Amino acid sequence: MNYIDSHCHIVMDSFDGDRNEILTDYFASGGQAMMSVATGRDDHELNLRLRLQWDRLCTSLGWHPHDAKDFGKSEEAYLLNAVQKNEIRAVGEIGLDYHYNLSTRAEQLRAFDRQMAIAGKAGLPVIIHTREADRDTTDILSRHRKVRGILHCYTSGRDLMETGLKLDYFISFSGIITFGKAASGIRELLKSVPLDRLLFETDSPYLTPVPFRGKRNDPRKVVHVIEKAAEILEIPAENLSEQANRNFFHLFPGRN
Ligand SMILES: [Zn+2]
Repeated sequence: MNYIDSHCHIVMDSFDGDRNEILTDYFASGGQAMMSVATGRDDHELNLRLRLQWDRLCTSLGWHPHDAKDFGKSEEAYLLNAVQKNEIRAVGEIGLDYHYNLSTRAEQLRAFDRQMAIAGKAGLPVIIHTREADRDTTDILSRHRKVRGILHCYTSGRDLMETGLKLDYFISFSGIITFGKAASGIRELLKSVPLDRLLFETDSPYLTPVPFRGKRNDPRKVVHVIEKAAEILEIPAENLSEQANRNFFHLFPGRN
């Protein structure tokens, strides 16, 4: 199967021992592209080195809502510089997380809004992380109408999803769809996303899909997310994966 992991953190420390092996295997066994998401400077520097070796690795940079409190002038300048030098294909992940509230809501709203503005000005897609913040996320997306992107690892409500679809966003589903009963609401939402707006991701090293729970997740396991989605949607996994690949290249044309 040809596949794309539309959101992973291959730059994180937990891959320091075998990152090259995983990337080699991923691209040799069907990976058509990958979105490698950086949440700060060190991640981004590593991404720049990785893409010299793997030209199908796409890079993204943004200050996560958890780290919104750290998004000051120098971080903004760093992000702007990466944008201007064409070092990234997307701004993200950015957004709101009112579940953990590791930054205050005010800090999160400010960092999210600033980074949306940067993406809008640059014409770059965004990668949105949103948790228990449907209303405020809807507000900010609606305020930046020209910006497009991905609602990543979707676990929010139907209204926000419909707002996203209306604003031309893609909806990305993770290994959560393989989880037990608690995820049945997400599986229902998956069924109402048009096929030409679907993406799949691992969010690795987190959110390991069934049947690998308890082990580290990695980008190759996106296949299990796609297979589960195909089962839910009752269509062949290969067809679904090809469609998701087309969707990814529609949002991120060509190679990085
Ligand atoms: Zn992530």
